[in-house]
Amino acid sequence: MKILVSRRFPGPAWSELRDLEYLSGPLPEGAGGRRDDIEALAVVGERVDAETLDLFPNLNIVANYGVGYDSIDVGACIARGVVVTNTPGVLTAATADLAFALLLAVRRRIVVGDRAVRDSRWRGGWADPDFLGRDVSGSTLGIVGFGRIGHAVAHRAEAFGMRVLHNSRRPGGEGWRELDELLAEADAVSVHVPLTPETRGLLDASRLALLRDGACLVNTARGQIVDEDALVRELASGRIEAGLDVFAYEPEVPRELLGLPNVVLTPHVGSATAETREAMTRVLVDNLLAVERGERSPNPV
Ligand code: NAP
Repeated sequence: MKILVSRRFPGPAWSELRDLEYLSGPLPEGAGGRRDDIEALAVVGERVDAETLDLFPNLNIVANYGVGYDSIDVGACIARGVVVTNTPGVLTAATADLAFALLLAVRRRIVVGDRAVRDSRWRGGWADPDFLGRDVSGSTLGIVGFGRIGHAVAHRAEAFGMRVLHNSRRPGGEGWRELDELLAEADAVSVHVPLTPETRGLLDASRLALLRDGACLVNTARGQIVDEDALVRELASGRIEAGLDVFAYEPEVPRELLGLPNVVLTPHVGSATAETREAMTRVLVDNLLAVERGERSPNPV
């Protein structure tokens, strides 16, 4: 099976794939980019839509390196009999760790303190109000999207002595709340829904306004789930604080955020550990090999 890949993915499993061609730039566009020989695409975040699929008439599979597949038009793939696969599960712990790291970094002013030490602005003593954070232990965390990563974040929160509330579309379980109730009740909110037509802009200006004064919003899911302009306004006013791994128009980050002390920013690194990235390659390769053998892939979406 001839596979067009957007990059060399890390880990030993990669060597099990044979007929590979590496993309030198973005996926082809326009009629001149037609490729009848390609039977598989392995992508990470590249947009794959109906126009892309028209250029690959003999495609069997679009294998996504990652769990979120919002960049792929799954309906258009299904209509053409193209399987879409992702790499769920193996990145759950790493992403949950990052969400919790952002929460701790914001609440305990870790980046503010680090900058002060590096810039020789630490005067000694412990009375500087810039370094005064808020307790994580004993506070309430609201989890929006209570799936694999949401549950893993809840386990971490419980270990830190937090009370956990959660929201998914299906009500149920101790701690479930309507979304608006959760936003109003929690001291910190961590977002873990996939980006879908339903969740795009889920946390709009009116929902962000429900957050308590001093609340911390953590987003390691997708930037477009939150109204980014409204979030910037809330953060610039100093009313809330945030830890953000994802942005609406990556790699662009709103300039207004860059100078704010009440926000910690990371460059979409939820799954970025050596072990997790190798495990994701293993899953990606297994999906490709299954389709090559004519079998059902382990992770169809
Ligand atoms: P998952 O197991 O499918 O969990 C998603 C949860 O969201 C499900 O429990 C689902 O429950 C809930 N949900 C879906 N639509 C909802 C809505 N409209 N309102 C409320 N809840 C809703 O997915 P996961 O593995 O935890 O991954 C979650 C997302 O994290 C991925 O889609 C990806 O975008 C993001 N992610 C980011 C990084 C990073 O590098 N920053 C890394 C990994 C993943 P119901 O269906 O019951 O509502």
